[in-house]
Amino acid sequence: MHEVGLCEGVLGVVLEASGGRPVRRVRVRVGTLLRVWPESFDQAWRLVGEATPAEDAAVELDEVPARIRCRSCRHEAEPEDLPLCPRCGSSHVDVLAGDELVVEEVELEGGAVLRNPALDGSRPKEE
Ligand SMILES: [Zn+2]
Repeated sequence: MHEVGLCEGVLGVVLEASGGRPVRRVRVRVGTLLRVWPESFDQAWRLVGEATPAEDAAVELDEVPARIRCRSCRHEAEPEDLPLCPRCGSSHVDVLAGDELVVEEVELEGGAVLRNPALDGSRPKEE
């Protein structure tokens, strides 16, 4: 269950942002190429978050579709899971989106919402 490793990274960011205050909700942007299962992520969260201020937090995953550009034929595509060019089959592709794992929001008990300042204005357009 590779979600445990991912959760540890996310939890570190969340705990730093919350500064020890109880966390009610966490919103995480996750690329589909990471192949994260929401149920597994939730289980992993209970595991790694135990006895921390974030142990009861609800985790929301905001899935970002994969987007690649082929280096061979320059085709751009949104592959389901593997970063392969659907036109020519090449694996020499640049991943434009879909491999990220970013904490978007942390909501504290009491309702204060902390937004990740690095994300302001950088949200990829959804089509
Ligand atoms: Zn191609």
